[in-house]
Amino acid sequence: MNKKQKLMLKRIIIASLLLIALQFVPITGVLQLICFLAIYGIIGYDILWKSWKGIRNKQVFDENFLMAVATIGVFALAIYEQSGDYNEAIAVMLFYQIGELFQSYAVGKSRRNITALMDIRPDYANIEVDGQLTKVDPYDVAVGDIIVVQPGEKVPLDGIVLDGKASLDTSALTGESVPRNVVVGDEITSGCININGVLKIRTTKEFDDSTVAKILELVENATSRKSKSENFISKFARIYTPFVCYSALALAILPPLVNQFIWQVGANWEIWVYRALTFLVISCPCALVLSVPLSFFAGIGGASKKGILVKGSNYLEALSKIKYVVFDKTGTLTHGVFQVSAVHHNTLAQEKLLEYAALAECASSHPISLSLQRAHKGEINRNRVTDIQEISGHGIVAKVDGKYVAVGNDKLMAQLHVAYKKCHSTGTIIHIAINNDYAGHIVISDVIKPQSKEAIQDLKKAGIKKTVMLTGDRDSVAQEVAHELAIDEVHSQLLPADKVIQVENLLTAKEKDSNLAFVGDGINDAPVLTRADIGIAMGAMGSDAAIEAADVVLMDDNPRNIAKAINIAKKCMSIVYENIIFAISIKALCLLLGAVGIANMWFAIFADVGVMILAVLNAIRALNVKNC
Ligand code: ADP
Ligand code: MG
Repeated sequence: MNKKQKLMLKRIIIASLLLIALQFVPITGVLQLICFLAIYGIIGYDILWKSWKGIRNKQVFDENFLMAVATIGVFALAIYEQSGDYNEAIAVMLFYQIGELFQSYAVGKSRRNITALMDIRPDYANIEVDGQLTKVDPYDVAVGDIIVVQPGEKVPLDGIVLDGKASLDTSALTGESVPRNVVVGDEITSGCININGVLKIRTTKEFDDSTVAKILELVENATSRKSKSENFISKFARIYTPFVCYSALALAILPPLVNQFIWQVGANWEIWVYRALTFLVISCPCALVLSVPLSFFAGIGGASKKGILVKGSNYLEALSKIKYVVFDKTGTLTHGVFQVSAVHHNTLAQEKLLEYAALAECASSHPISLSLQRAHKGEINRNRVTDIQEISGHGIVAKVDGKYVAVGNDKLMAQLHVAYKKCHSTGTIIHIAINNDYAGHIVISDVIKPQSKEAIQDLKKAGIKKTVMLTGDRDSVAQEVAHELAIDEVHSQLLPADKVIQVENLLTAKEKDSNLAFVGDGINDAPVLTRADIGIAMGAMGSDAAIEAADVVLMDDNPRNIAKAINIAKKCMSIVYENIIFAISIKALCLLLGAVGIANMWFAIFADVGVMILAVLNAIRALNVKNC
């Protein structure tokens, strides 16, 4: 509990004790009234103050106003009737405050839950100077600096291991509980916790561009993007509260007037004013107004426990309606780590061919390019390469040792009018031309991620109508992967722009009120990520552009998390609807009972606080995503 909540708790306890004590003190008249008013002040001063502020700011109708009018009204009635029964007004205020305290505690708790998950912000980085470690602010570490991470410490910045080996706990980032082992040369992301070894790391990014900073930014901004349901609720409250107030006014005035002048049976003002006040208490919309955003908040928190970052509640709502999932192949369903399976060379030696390819590819971050660089065993001297041009969906042209080198697929060769040899090996074929003469090709093949097949099955189970794979790769490779994974539809040899066209076709053909998701790693597919109803990016492997463009980021690149994200979203949405329906129907029932005089004010406050507590407890359920 924070300070404010503790103060509230004290006020509640003191007011309750005084109220009980006062029942046994034999005082009457003005003195009694003063004592009750004092207790009323203790428990309700902030509500009175807030409703007064609301009136002054011309934003009269809120729940503070409802409570203030109702309780003051009950006091006034008791004075008018000279009944001396002031308990009711105080009890209403007391229960209302208990409800408020409970909800602020619940909100605080789920907020803390999320920030605890996100407790990945590193406080410092260790820099080694003359054999001594000094702690510095991670902001002050430049790219290329060498930092030391000791056992138990968080990795503060993204980098590459220079020395040492260790197991890393990545669970805060990916939800994956199995530690990841890293050795010299491995890339590591900030936010992981070093379990056992001492690591020397050369940083590759500044703190602001590091994984940690990006994730924190995402999570911090997530709750500010409102979903349709949330907007609906705030609009609803804006219309509903004044409506209720005027209805209460009507209930207080009209029936007595009708009684008086039409039926001529006496006005009975007290009864109708009391009913109107009860009506006000019942109608307080807090359960709704509070529980809906809280459910979304908990849903986003639950998803992030699994390494699924949802950038806003609107995307949670969109996720729950996904019926079509379109995949990119390389890096999404496959590892994107190609092995060279054959080199068919013309005039040059095999090593030379690989060397040219690796040099030309030296600046690209395409999975193919990284694989070719890895396949070339020797050192890559970037000074030998100039005029690099990457043609997406085709390949690369560059000047290596002053020669024009082209590395890419059939399309690239056709574009350059190079007479290339067709190759019938299975795999992706990378042709190489030097000074527009065909020099041979490299056959590379990718491996399907072990979880991809289950990922497609999971999606079917989650009610997905159609899965589609789009790829720039050869048709034979595409068909093989699609067949292996049981994907419904496949389109191959697409340029990035063709992928957009394919997605647009699917978007026009889809069912009404269903959503299409595109899942990619962002290399050559950032445009489709934005074009789809919802873009899902692979976070660990994916490019920065993809993570920017996407609405949902899967931190551990596991395609099975797509179905999980959909299930979490569905659960969250059903909780939201449950709460809306539950709260509205209980309210409607109570209002009816109140209007005909069956429900009194005690009943009203119990109904209100009860509905709110149940709705909040239900909302918190969205945090639990174990079985999604
Ligand atoms: P995918 O849709 O499978 O992710 P891309 O659109 O990234 O594929 O690339 C499509 C094809 O273009 C690749 O299969 C490859 O033939 C060629 N290509 C793209 N980039 C490169 C590159 N850097 N080097 C060589 N070939 C490339
Ligand atoms: Mg790709």
